[in-house]
Amino acid sequence: MQYASTRDSGLSVSAAQAVAQGIAADGGLFLPREIPRFVPGELEELTRLDYIGRAERILSKFFTPEGGWPAAEIRACAEGAYARSFDCPEVAPLKTLNETTSVLELYHGPTCAFKDMALQLLPRLLTASARKCMDEQEIVILVATSGDTGKAALEGFRDVPGTKIIVFYPAEGVSPVQKAQMATQEGANVRVVAVRGNFDDAQTGVKRIFGSAAIQARLAARGQAFSSANSINWGRLAPQIVYYVSAWCDLRKAEKIGPAEPIHFVVPTGNFGNILAGYYAKAMGLPVAKLICASNKNRILTDFLATGVYDRNRAFYTTSSPSMDILISSNLERLLYLASGQNSALVSGWMRELSATGRYEVPAPLLRALQKSFACGSCNEAQTAHAIRGAWQTYGYLSDTHTAVALHVLEEYRRETGDPTKTVVVSTASPYKFAASVLSAVTGRAAPANEFEALGLLEQTTGAPCPPPLRGLDQKPVRFTDICGIDEMPGFLEV
Ligand SMILES: *Cc1c(COP(=O)(O)O)cnc(C)c1O
Repeated sequence: MQYASTRDSGLSVSAAQAVAQGIAADGGLFLPREIPRFVPGELEELTRLDYIGRAERILSKFFTPEGGWPAAEIRACAEGAYARSFDCPEVAPLKTLNETTSVLELYHGPTCAFKDMALQLLPRLLTASARKCMDEQEIVILVATSGDTGKAALEGFRDVPGTKIIVFYPAEGVSPVQKAQMATQEGANVRVVAVRGNFDDAQTGVKRIFGSAAIQARLAARGQAFSSANSINWGRLAPQIVYYVSAWCDLRKAEKIGPAEPIHFVVPTGNFGNILAGYYAKAMGLPVAKLICASNKNRILTDFLATGVYDRNRAFYTTSSPSMDILISSNLERLLYLASGQNSALVSGWMRELSATGRYEVPAPLLRALQKSFACGSCNEAQTAHAIRGAWQTYGYLSDTHTAVALHVLEEYRRETGDPTKTVVVSTASPYKFAASVLSAVTGRAAPANEFEALGLLEQTTGAPCPPPLRGLDQKPVRFTDICGIDEMPGFLEV
């Protein structure tokens, strides 16, 4: 499989090149030149495999045979990622709420958020890619994180030979648990820095570093090259396609759906990476009716999918679902490319408008095409708390704040449309990662200001077990305390 850039449809590079490089030289995002399709009978076959088997089959379509990725190498990457570091054999278990609703839990990895699904695999894909197409360079991974990516990337890359990782997180934008997870990170090749500002500031700073020829040249002279562990890297996107297929297969295996029955997925969305993987699964032939895009109070995507206008000139809110507090959804660029018939000139134009004016508008036919695949909705803070409480009282199901946004949007969608289609709610974090918000939603009272106290209380109140990696986090030694402005970020590459 060869890869193009969203800003140059004529480009053709190998999968290894796309993953090793992370972002195209023209600033565009890499994506496969064509989308592989499931052959008849293949989905039924996949239902008989376990998660690793499904991952091997699906990922192989994007990596082999050109570029020399034998299926055995993909299998080894998938085994390394999923065989030991997840706390349940299903890797991504599906829990039933009622006849028409199940929850796909993607938070059983080492950092308790869905980012592990991709970031346990990416370092393996990336080092394999580097062996195929780079000579002996050390890979420097730069990450801008709204909280969960940073920790998951640090865990994925810690002490991986030939790599170094620097994570920038917004000083004012992550939860105390997220911050403690990152500041106490172990490993000899890791660095963590707080940036004054919000996620978009941190992301802008990282993009500027990637875009600087002078910095690239300095790195090259030291035998280093950049790559990205953000969801702009195709190696992050591809592993996420697997769990959409896997969820459908699990429903099929349990005979909860018919042989080709389409289902909906409702996805709590920030950077548009997760839900875009669902779009790829649908394009490959997975029976998906609608992908329901769920936003929090930062509802830029909801507005875009409703009106065709993407406008970041608006207030930015800090919410109880911080991993979705985003106004620039990078992966939307890939969707625009696909939906516009791979028209890189159009996409480049919109991205230029976005950086110049903060706004662009897509033509009505394109919007109508998007609306065939995507529904959307948003959820404010009170509705988030209400959804957590409702799921706990109705189903005894404890949901985190991000998943709650999806639960609310689904309820609203069903009320408005009466659509009875079976739906999978994509759950992106353990409730213990956002313990204070979840506790106060469940009890209806203010939670203790100390997040770690809230964590213990949540366990006492609900009896749902706290995942071991989040226990005792406040006792671990803090290793990283640096804080800087956007302009100072490049300084941290020099050490
Ligand atoms: C990253 C994240 C999201 C948003 O995912 P995108 O791929 O950026 O849309 C939602 N929930 C949690 C818990 C996350 O960590």
